[in-house]
This record gives sequence, structure tokens and C-alpha cells, in this order.
Amino acid sequence: MEYKKVTDADINVFREICGKDSIFTGTDIHEDFTHDEMTIYGIYKPEAVIEAHTTEQVSRILKYANENKIPVTPRGSGTGLCGGAVPINGGIVLSLAKMDKIIEFDNKNYTVVTEPGVLLMTLAKEAVDRGMLYPPDPGEKSATLGGNVMTNAGGMRAIKYGVTRDYVLGMKAVLPDGSILKLGGKIAKNSSGYSIKDLMIGSEGTLAIITELILKLIPLPEETLSLLVPFDSLEKCFEAVPKIVQSKTNPTAVEFMQRQVIEAAEEYLGLHFPDKSSDAYLLLTFDGDSREALDATYRKAAEICLEAGATDVYISDTEERQESIWKARGAFLEAIKTSTTEMDECDVVVPRTMLGSFMGFVESLEKEHSLRIRSFGHAGDGNLHIYLCKDGLGTEEWERECSCVMKDLYAKAGTMGGQISGEHGVGHAKRDYLEKSLGNKTLTLMRGIKKVFDPNNILNPGKVF
Ligand SMILES: Cc1cc2nc3c(=O)[nH]c(=O)nc-3n(C[C@H](O)[C@H](O)[C@H](O)COP(=O)(O)OP(=O)(O)OC[C@H]3O[C@@H](n4cnc5c(N)ncnc54)[C@H](O)[C@@H]3O)c2cc1C
Repeated sequence: MEYKKVTDADINVFREICGKDSIFTGTDIHEDFTHDEMTIYGIYKPEAVIEAHTTEQVSRILKYANENKIPVTPRGSGTGLCGGAVPINGGIVLSLAKMDKIIEFDNKNYTVVTEPGVLLMTLAKEAVDRGMLYPPDPGEKSATLGGNVMTNAGGMRAIKYGVTRDYVLGMKAVLPDGSILKLGGKIAKNSSGYSIKDLMIGSEGTLAIITELILKLIPLPEETLSLLVPFDSLEKCFEAVPKIVQSKTNPTAVEFMQRQVIEAAEEYLGLHFPDKSSDAYLLLTFDGDSREALDATYRKAAEICLEAGATDVYISDTEERQESIWKARGAFLEAIKTSTTEMDECDVVVPRTMLGSFMGFVESLEKEHSLRIRSFGHAGDGNLHIYLCKDGLGTEEWERECSCVMKDLYAKAGTMGGQISGEHGVGHAKRDYLEKSLGNKTLTLMRGIKKVFDPNNILNPGKVF
């Protein structure tokens, strides 16, 4: 598809719509806008960066871009891990980061209305200050809510509370032709025709731009407590996961980590983890409204873990101790990134009962190929983050080995009934794998949907498929 290049005349129109201080071109474009968190997927410079402040501005920019066939890539904080917010066809990067107001907390309906550029950490804190909880808890707290919704971000509490999709009640969405849709509302249920709102969630900025969100909140649990559980083998660690889930202890988090990843985080953060003598660990969190109830729950979970072969159970019941463990958990990705020259990521999800055999397969690939592989993930959800590290490999060998291992990982996940991405999305980096995993019929339907929303293919072209 041929796109129009952004000209001085276009820039003047954008200045008129958004104000001259909100348009950046040439050397004024910050380097951050050329990539997301995974520079391995390429550096792409936009022809212009526009910071939007209102729905009306987004509508006018899109209408103009659509009429002139200028590609538009929406962007939140750029913390994505698959090149989703990167302008691979040039054109405009439309940043929603300045639309960062929380419009209204409603503690009777347990909802919040926000602009899309509000950071996850801002909403999380503001909700807690009002005695409410926004349950989705992806690792990168500086991501925007718009980005979270557009990737259907998961995170640490998905096993108990679900993912971002489960908390989106409504939204304002601007279509490529500039029309503004109001979808859903402050309503707990909705069976009124096709759910266009749900189609938007996880669409990675390819169907519309979100300019307002209505999100669901829940009452804030009074108490939380974490358990760090070491196992001397990966098999025992993963065998424990379905047993914990079956036990009715209802954990909010069941995270898996390898010893080597903990060591990397210790080095990266300069802090000491409570234990790193074992090969594999589960980090469990529980919440509830009374300490008594929580004590009974965690004791039951601890017993189950010990019966399943855990070598110990470390209780972390003070805010300080919980923070130090979760701080290390939050740094895993950065720690692995810092430990190597380049890395690629695989975000597969498999049924949780398959985790052990999937990780066994990962270990066999590591031995077979000359590649260091590090893993951690949301074990309770069957969602693993697997990192292939380049270290000292030459470019040719790295590309060959990496591509070979990635293909095998995705193919294996497919045979186990899994999917190629549990929460990070497809972007442009994982498109080829999506095609293989979904098959022609589903992909044709997806392409048809894209065409209905965006017949000129100006909105985030080249992403998802
Ligand atoms: C250290 C680290 C840990 C992470 N942990 C997790 C995790 O636990 N779980 C998880 O799910 N992800 C995780 N991520 C990935 C990332 O944070 C999420 O994908 C996040 O949702 C991206 O938000 P963002 O604001 O940075 O979006 P961006 O990266 O800017 O954009 C992501 C996608 O959304 C689109 N988009 C953004 N805003 C809008 C909008 N308003 N309207 C339309 N389209 C839009 C973009 O075009 C792009 O396709 C992690 C990332 C890092 C670096």
C-alpha cells in the first residue's frame, strides 16, 4: 500500500488542530518514539509526532490522515514488547500520553472514568487511596491504561481477578474516519448486540483510538500476604501449580521464577532475595479481609506446596518484605536484558497442566542450540515469558538459532492447545507466528473486520497481521 509522505502543508494543519507545541518533526522527534521496549524489532522514525490533548483533536487528525492516506500509529508509554507502537510505515505517531486525567471516581457504581494516558501506577494509587482496587496488575506500572486496554494486558493478579478486558466497561473510541463511538457505560452487564467494545480490547491500535475509558473497580481487600516457595526441580514446581489452584485457597498471584533469573535481578538491583539455593520458585500472594482468614488460607497453601515437594516456605507478611520480593520480581525483564547483548521474547500461554512439559521442552532446546534461555512467568495462568539471549554470538548465528528456537516454541505451544501471546500482543514482531497459529479462516475474518473499521489501512498498518 502506497502512503502519502507528511508535508509542510500537513504539518500546518496538525499545528492548527493541536497547537504548534504539540507537533514534532525532524531532529525534534525524541529517539524514544522510534521503538518500544524491544529495540531488536527495529528502529523506525516517524515523519511527525503529535501529542493529542482531546478527543476532538484525535478525531480531526484521524479524519485528515484518512483522507490523505497518512499512516497513524497510536502510542501510550511505549513499554510494549512486540513493536506495536512503532511506526513501521512512517507517517504520524499519535501520542495519547498527555491525555492523562482521571475524570471521575464513582464509589457507588465502583467505576472510574479516565483518559487513556493515565499511567497504571497512578490509577492504582488513586484507587487505593479511596479504598478501592483496580485489579489488573501488569509488571510495567508506567504503561498507560490505553496501552493496557489495547494489548489486553494481563499481569500478576489474573489468576484471581482476570485480565484488563474484565475491567473495561465502556470507552470512547475514534474511528479512522474521525467518527466518535461511545461504547458500553457504567453498566455491569450488556447483551445489546455485538460487543464492539470487546473487539477494541486487545486490537493493538489497529481499529480505533481510545480517548476515554470507563473501568471497573472492586473494594480494596484489607490484608495481603506472600509466600516464596523453593523447589529443587522445575517438574515439582509446576506439578504444584494445579494443586494450588484446585485447593480453593484462591491466590491472587502464582508466579514462577528460575534461580538464574533471581540472581540476575539481585545483581541488577543490588539487593538480596530471601533465598536462592533452589532451582525453581513459586511466588504466591493471597488477599482477604481478615488476617485470621488469610492465615488459614496460606497455611493450607503452604501444606499443599510442601506435600508437592517444596523444600521450604518463606512467609512474607510485612509490607517491607513483600515489597522487596515483588521489587525483584518486577525487575526480571530488565535484569535479563542487562545481562546480555540482545534478546528476543516469547510470551506463550499453554494450559497450566502443560507447564512442566513445556518447560522441559525449553530446556531441551537450550541444550540443543547454542543459546542461553531464561524464563519466568505467570504460572497460575500458564503464561511463560521466555527470553533468548544473544550473549557473544555473531549476528548470523544468533538470527539463525533464534528463529529456529522461536518457531519450535510456538509450534510446541500450538500442539499443547496454547496460543502465541498470553498478554503482550502480536505487534509486527510476531505476525508470522500468528498466521501459522490461527490458520486462514480466522485470519480472513480478522482482516475483514479490519477492513470494515479502517478501509484505507491507515491505523497502525502492518500490526497483528
Ligand atoms: C518490565 C516490563 C514488564 C511488563 N510486564 C507486563 C505484564 O506483566 N503483563 C503485560 O500484559 N504486559 C507487560 N508488559 C508489556 C507492556 O507494559 C504492556 O503491553 C502495556 O500494556 C503497554 O502499554 P503502553 O502504554 O506502554 O502502550 P504502548 O507500548 O505505547 O502501545 C501498545 C499498543 O497499544 C496501542 N495503543 C496505545 N495506546 C492506545 C490508545 N489510546 N488507543 C489505541 N491504541 C493504543 C499501540 O498502538 C500499540 O499497539 C511489560 C513491559 C515491560 C517493559
